[in-house]
Amino acid sequence: MTTLAAKATDILARLGADPARHTGGSMASFSPVTGEQVAALVPDTADTTDAAIARAGAAFLAWRLVPAPRRGELVRLLGEELRAAKADLGALVSIEAGKSPSEGAGEVQEMIDICDFAVGLSRQLYGLTIATERPGHRMMETWHPLGVVGVISAFNFPVAVWSWNTALALVCGNPVVWKPSEKTPLTALACQAVLDKALARFGDAPADLSQVLIGGADVGAALVAHKGVALISATGSTRMGRQVGPAVAARFGRTILELGGNNAGIVCPSADLDMALRAIAFGAMGTAGQRCTTMRRLFVHDSVYDALVPRLIKAYGSVSVGNPLETQALVGPLVDGAAFDAMQVALEAARAAGGTVHGGERVSVGTDAAFYARPALVEMPDQLGPVLEETFAPILYVMKFSDFEGVLHKHNEVGAGLSSSIFTTDLREMETFLSAAGSDCGIANVNIGTSGAEIGGAFGGEKETGGGRESGSDAWKGYMRRATNTINYSRALPLAQGVVFDID
Ligand code: NAD
Repeated sequence: MTTLAAKATDILARLGADPARHTGGSMASFSPVTGEQVAALVPDTADTTDAAIARAGAAFLAWRLVPAPRRGELVRLLGEELRAAKADLGALVSIEAGKSPSEGAGEVQEMIDICDFAVGLSRQLYGLTIATERPGHRMMETWHPLGVVGVISAFNFPVAVWSWNTALALVCGNPVVWKPSEKTPLTALACQAVLDKALARFGDAPADLSQVLIGGADVGAALVAHKGVALISATGSTRMGRQVGPAVAARFGRTILELGGNNAGIVCPSADLDMALRAIAFGAMGTAGQRCTTMRRLFVHDSVYDALVPRLIKAYGSVSVGNPLETQALVGPLVDGAAFDAMQVALEAARAAGGTVHGGERVSVGTDAAFYARPALVEMPDQLGPVLEETFAPILYVMKFSDFEGVLHKHNEVGAGLSSSIFTTDLREMETFLSAAGSDCGIANVNIGTSGAEIGGAFGGEKETGGGRESGSDAWKGYMRRATNTINYSRALPLAQGVVFDID
């Protein structure tokens, strides 16, 4: 057994994951860190998927009747179990997704944070009371559990996305059926094991409140097509969303779509360039450019271009790239060879469109099975060709601008609408960027980068990013159904809008 496989097996055993699901199966799982196989999983089938959804439907009938603050107690226990499992789960994220130990632990911290948020939320599922036009009447909104929530997640946040959905779904009264990325199934089995510990301590929850389906797009598609799933919360590429969105709409199901981003930063003449440099470096190169919120486009005012861009190019040339488990490297692996190939195709297209490429070459780590690349900074003459699309790799396209109105137009020209940031100390530029005439993204930041959102805010984006919102603020409303109730406590029956309908 290879080293990382042995480590992963040890962690799974410590967390209590069922070995029958990740040993001896036909679905191989690899670590991007070394390229080695770490497990052989047993995939789900159409029959086991159907059965899991049926069990979740039965769990819903019981869980929806449990008072919300009591449901919150389960999520409080989940938060406690996650605190105890943080080191192990973070290490497994590093093995399976290739994140640095700090980023792996940070992802688990995000899970703990959303649990804390959801516990409070379990006492705050408020509805409005609304003035009625009829005397002796009262009108109000009530929020009810929705039904089975199907979660589909991407490889790059293999555990946080599940927790965003599951913590909220559980306090809202819904069971969850999760189809994780086929590239990160082990972390999913680990999360299930951690939740099982919380369920055991909770005591009287219905069986099958949370289940994991192992498999690829076919298993995800079966979940998407199933009428027993009230909400599909799908995180991944816009390509995936183009298939999932219409399929769920065709059966009048509900979706939360969290899709690709093509996030930009704008550096204005008054910007604090030292701060901008650090924010851009983390936003564009961190997590090897494999965050949905990674900065992919940078517009720099021509008055500060020469003061900023050569420093950025230097940072790109010197940033450490390497095995995140054995070195302190800031840039780890791409998820697989296909990601490296897609990066090279985009860089070639950028060259053909007149771009000057700095970096982007493969970095050797002593094995051909893992794919590491030096992040690429590409000076582009304009927003052309590959700049308009998300390539899920560390490529930053840098362009000059001179006119603020014009750069806002360029900023919003792309299909995706996830995250954005402006670097300025000019109040007018800042407020314009945040106004209705400014950034069209779901996230708009000032003097910080595009990535690294906190769980307290609603997370998601517009246009081809799908329009969904998860995590904080009032995102919980997406996991519940709303009923408007009107109660007549008078002795008369006045009709709304003064309509008369008297019968003898
Ligand atoms: P992907 O689209 O290849 O896969 C995501 C998930 O969708 C996987 O679980 C996959 O099995 C499933 N899937 C694919 N086709 C499906 C179908 N037809 N029906 C049902 N399920 C299907 O994405 P990836 O490569 O794992 O992740 C990278 C992408 O995810 C990037 O585009 C990134 O921007 C995006 N992402 C977005 C967010 C966000 O919150 N907006 C967060 C993380 C990642």
